[in-house]
Amino acid sequence: GTFDEMGLKEELLRGIYAFGFEKPSAIQQRAIVPCTTGKDVIAQAQSGTGKTATFSVSILQRIDHTNPTVQALVMAPTRELAQQIQKVLSALGEYMNVSVHACIGGTSIRDDQRKLESGVHVVVGTPGRVNDMVSRNALHTDSIKMFVLDEADEMLSSGFKDQIYEVFKTMPNDVQVVLLSATMPNEVLEVTAKFMREPIRILV
Ligand code: AMP
Repeated sequence: GTFDEMGLKEELLRGIYAFGFEKPSAIQQRAIVPCTTGKDVIAQAQSGTGKTATFSVSILQRIDHTNPTVQALVMAPTRELAQQIQKVLSALGEYMNVSVHACIGGTSIRDDQRKLESGVHVVVGTPGRVNDMVSRNALHTDSIKMFVLDEADEMLSSGFKDQIYEVFKTMPNDVQVVLLSATMPNEVLEVTAKFMREPIRILV
């Protein structure tokens, strides 16, 4: 398969090729199209498989850049990973006029609030700060159509379960959930059972 065959927006394809990708990796070949059609997806995938670009391309395909509301939320276990994902999303979305904000601990709450007020399309964050912004009503979750949990096993083993559940509860009932995890311990399976609908399972 090729990126050209995935039905992606022209300006997104441009971003993908400008980033240096020529051919989709195995997970990208299997997961991007289901993700872009709004299906729930569970991908058991390690770092290095191309998982970040898998959900980043899918998010960029699904958002409407003319609507300045948060339409996709990515949660990651560490600040560094959240920042890395934010950079990939911004780079792939270079030709799309899309605003991607990293919502992470260790930064100014006021700056976060101001940035969110200015209208961002995608938020990538760690569960603690994201939950904080939601409870302050600075991050509005009512327009979110895609929720990505990256390294779900790491997030849950780090004790972020309550914060993830709190944010989940505020999102629209029909939100698409995409979950990536290297392993599938019980607490990850619990999340998939609780929040996902007829998910497609992909093992890479
Ligand atoms: P990840 O699994 O997201 O940690 O990605 C691992 C590495 O693979 C990163 O350096 C990506 O930039 C790179 N990568 C992801 N997808 C592709 C692709 N289709 N072609 C070439 N490199 C890629």
